[in-house]
Amino acid sequence: MPQYDYLIVGAGLFGSMFAYRARKAGKRCLVIDRNPHVGGGCYTENQAGINVHKYGPHIFHTSNQQVWDFVNSLVPFNNFVNSPVACYKGKRYNLPFNMNTFHQLWGVSTPEEAKAIIERQRAEYADIEEPKNLEE
Ligand SMILES: Cc1cc2nc3c(=O)[nH]c(=O)nc-3n(C[C@H](O)[C@H](O)[C@H](O)COP(=O)(O)OP(=O)(O)OC[C@H]3O[C@@H](n4cnc5c(N)ncnc54)[C@H](O)[C@@H]3O)c2cc1C
Repeated sequence: MPQYDYLIVGAGLFGSMFAYRARKAGKRCLVIDRNPHVGGGCYTENQAGINVHKYGPHIFHTSNQQVWDFVNSLVPFNNFVNSPVACYKGKRYNLPFNMNTFHQLWGVSTPEEAKAIIERQRAEYADIEEPKNLEE
C-alpha cells in the first residue's frame, strides 16, 4: 500500500503547484481530480493543433520578475496581445472602451465630448440606480 504525505484534491493551478513544490521538498503526493484532466479551470484541449481553453480564455499576467522566471522554468509561454473587437449591428468596435470606440460610436474626438454624451445618456436613465448589466 503506497504511503503519501499529502492527498491533494484538485489538479488545478493550486493543487498542481502545491504537489510540484511538495515533491521538490521530498514529499510524496497523491493528486486526485473528478475531471479526467489536469489544469482545472485553465485546462486547454488540443483541437487540430490549436490549444482551445475549454472553460473560458485564460491570460497570464505578472509584473513580478520572480513569478515570471518561475513560470517560465515550468513551461514556455506564448506572447499574447489582447485586442478584442465587438460586432454590433454589423459594425466593428474596439473593446475595452477607449476613445477610438467613442469615435466609432458617436464620431467624437475628445474625452470632453464623450463625457458630455455619457452624461446625457445617464440623465435619460436616471431611474436606474444600480446597473445590472453592461447595457444598463
Ligand atoms: C472563464 C474564466 C476565465 C478566467 N480567466 C483568467 C485569466 O485570464 N487569468 C487568470 O489569472 N485567471 C483567470 N481565471 C481564474 C482562474 O481560472 C482561477 O484562478 C484558477 O483556475 C484557480 O485555480 P484553482 O486550482 O484554485 O482552482 P480550479 O482551476 O478550479 O481547480 C480546482 C480543481 O479541483 C477539482 N475539484 C474540485 N472539487 C473536487 C472534488 N470534490 N473532488 C475532486 N476534484 C475536485 C476540479 O475538478 C478542478 O480541476 C478565469 C476563470 C474563469 C472561470
